[in-house]
Amino acid sequence: MLVLKFGGTSVSSKSNLEKIAVILSSKTSNYIVVVSAFSGITNKLEQIASLSLEGKHTVLLEEFRNFHFEFIKELVSESHQIDLFVEVQQKCNQLESICESVGTLKELSDRTQATILSFGEQLSSIIVQKYLSVNVKNPIKIDLLDSRKLISATTNESKDYLNAVLDLDKTTRNILAVVGVPTDDTKTNKNYIAAGFIASNQKGETVTLGRGGSDFSASIYANALDATKLEIWSDVNGMQSANPRKVQTTHSLQKLSYAEAFEMAYFGAKVLYPPSILPVMDKNIPLYLKNTFFPKQEGTFISSENQPTDNKIQGICSLDEIAIITVSGVGLAKQKGSARRVFQILEEANINIILITQSCSEQSIGIGINQSELQNAQNVLNFAFEKDIQKGLMNEVKAIENQCIVALVGDNMKNAIGLAGKVFGAIGENGINVTAIAQGASERNISIVIDKKDEEKALNVIHEKFFASTVKNVHVFIAGIGNVGTEFITILFAQKQKLIEEYQINLKIIGIANSKQLLFNHTTETFEKVEELTKEEILNFKQKKENKNAKTYSSLNEYFEAIKELNLRNSVFIDNTASDSVSEGYEFLIKNSISVVTCNKIACSSEYANYLKLNKLAKERNIHFKYETSVGAALPILKTIHDLKISGDKINQIEAVISGSLNFIFNNYNAENQFADVVLQAKEEGYTEPNPLIDLSGLDVMRKILILSRESGLNRELSDITFTSFLPDECTNSKSVEELFENLKKHENHFATLYQNAHKNGNKLKVVAKMEKGNLSVALQEIPSNSPFYTLEGKDNVVAINTNRYVDEPLVIKGAGAGAAVTASGVFADLMFIMNN
Ligand code: ADP
Ligand code: ASP
Ligand code: MG
Repeated sequence: MLVLKFGGTSVSSKSNLEKIAVILSSKTSNYIVVVSAFSGITNKLEQIASLSLEGKHTVLLEEFRNFHFEFIKELVSESHQIDLFVEVQQKCNQLESICESVGTLKELSDRTQATILSFGEQLSSIIVQKYLSVNVKNPIKIDLLDSRKLISATTNESKDYLNAVLDLDKTTRNILAVVGVPTDDTKTNKNYIAAGFIASNQKGETVTLGRGGSDFSASIYANALDATKLEIWSDVNGMQSANPRKVQTTHSLQKLSYAEAFEMAYFGAKVLYPPSILPVMDKNIPLYLKNTFFPKQEGTFISSENQPTDNKIQGICSLDEIAIITVSGVGLAKQKGSARRVFQILEEANINIILITQSCSEQSIGIGINQSELQNAQNVLNFAFEKDIQKGLMNEVKAIENQCIVALVGDNMKNAIGLAGKVFGAIGENGINVTAIAQGASERNISIVIDKKDEEKALNVIHEKFFASTVKNVHVFIAGIGNVGTEFITILFAQKQKLIEEYQINLKIIGIANSKQLLFNHTTETFEKVEELTKEEILNFKQKKENKNAKTYSSLNEYFEAIKELNLRNSVFIDNTASDSVSEGYEFLIKNSISVVTCNKIACSSEYANYLKLNKLAKERNIHFKYETSVGAALPILKTIHDLKISGDKINQIEAVISGSLNFIFNNYNAENQFADVVLQAKEEGYTEPNPLIDLSGLDVMRKILILSRESGLNRELSDITFTSFLPDECTNSKSVEELFENLKKHENHFATLYQNAHKNGNKLKVVAKMEKGNLSVALQEIPSNSPFYTLEGKDNVVAINTNRYVDEPLVIKGAGAGAAVTASGVFADLMFIMNN
């Protein structure tokens, strides 16, 4: 004998019932089918029950009746409809009179509630039985069993009506009497269908087995009949590694031990109702979780054959609506048995304890309970310990609300070295705070309590961390879509597919901002449920094409706040601007555990204290603040300095030509052309800052040498740099880019003289930045032909570093140090560094 249970979604459409008929007709042994109410019907009955208290149930009740009538019309031919209509009508009349009594008495006991809820399965079992018997393609001879007569339970207290306590012995006798012992061919040779979820108590009253209880009913039938197997058919491919509604990249768990399956179910994997495990485990009956929509899929096989997999996480589950209460005080440690008393008090008040954590000092116990039971728990404990609280031996019970429990489930987890560290590392990097941690005595789970708002983020982060085959989503927020920004986006979209395939990293651009507007791909007014932006949407945004989602902001803080509110895992902010207001947001972002990658020099060349603070904050939060491209574009300059330092070397001197733009300008200027024209060309080719004065005034080079000195370990400010200007004052004082160009033209002679003097001596002009004996300087210099800087072409940079190890010959880094494409590639490399770390 086989037992098959079909859940709400599985029985709720004609096409699904056709699938069920095919599944059943392929069975070679006899079976019992257990069905749930049609999808959503139990919830509707709950609503009807609560509305009936105020006499407002009529509309919903009518909907309930019509739903069943319409479904019958769709399922069976007219000749078969009449009987069903009569039955549905009778049941609905009974339901209506119960609701009316509730309205009159203004009282809804659990006893009445259980009767009301039972109508869903009462009706579905009758209707599905009829459909299976008379459908044209695969008619099946199948008899209806009345689960209320067969499944016996006890209700010791009024609350048990909705969660009745099974009487397995009596139930087994009842079932065997009707279906027959396995040797009795006349009875066992039949197929049956029964309602799930419902049973009756010792007084013959209708009770239910708890929400999701149809799985349990099926397991009870399987136990009573020593079934060869139990199949639970639902709308997913068996037990998944996480809830597929919360994690996008789950996979099916092919084999589980009973204990693992129980643990997953207990911690929220709704596909299986936890009490259903025991009856099948008791008789060693294999349990299969299958998908009605894709019957060929393997699903999950649960059995005692499945031995614990060593130290492996099978899945990740979560329970929300949790509150943590903390019972504390010296009395807990001093007075024997007080911890036991705490649990006893909660048990007596019928409060279900989900998780316990105890501090080493034994002076405090954290207890996870359902949020709905919080008030009651606080009251009973504070009342029971009133005297101890007055004496100062105990504290009033504290509570943390709106929590959720994330549980990692797998056999033998306790032995997995470093597993907890891996989890906490992953969630910590994403700014998720842990309220409490508990390792169940079962060794089968590690539970972490976190804020409910972080539930999905944590599930996804942990899932990505433990299942290598899972593609890791990285959420990218960009500021700036100028030259560098556009190149960055081009690189990102060009590499996207390759990164998914080869590195399992999916870079998703979620938000972008230019100097006036923000763009998120959101469907609602708020920034909830954002989708990634497509390349086309971004380029249209750049071209300022109409887009209803583009929002003009009054302050960039709106962007930073939105990034925080979205609370997406693996968030990285990319600054491709040269803007102050963007760099002012780094602190906020880093504090909220969002890594920052920037080619913008402003933050790192602002006050030393700020530079230090940002780096410290990032370190504390275990996230990244990367700015390799702020000096020498993609050249590995900061990385080299860092590597030298970490290997114990000391940076003594730096001499550098680190302005790609100035190098381009002085390499191309020959006094036969116009200095202003060469500057314009450099600007147009994207080598200068948006305002070339930043380059010409030396500020850009000063910022860079300042950053290099700080990375080398010096505490210096911009004002410490000795700068010798090569610009006439009038040029330096230009108020706008246009004015600058006019002034450059006006002073052409000044630049021609500089050039000719150098040329006469056989030298070239370069702006050289130096860090020497702790002093910083920037000046335009004549470079003789024997200098390594002499041959520096075009927009190239060179940095020569003398250290304790590189004494006579410096370590030299040379190459293209400006330009949108190389800078963007460096920004991208920083982003990849973060992903790989
Ligand atoms: P049925 O009506 O068939 O009993 P349920 O809704 O009770 O189905 O259970 C199936 C649902 O359980 C799935 O649709 C899925 O959303 C949810 N679920 C939660 N966690 C898991 C998990 N780890 N694996 C599979 N399903 C899960
Ligand atoms: N219909 C009941 C419920 O929705 C039982 C079940 O579907 O398992 O809870
Ligand atoms: Mg279910």
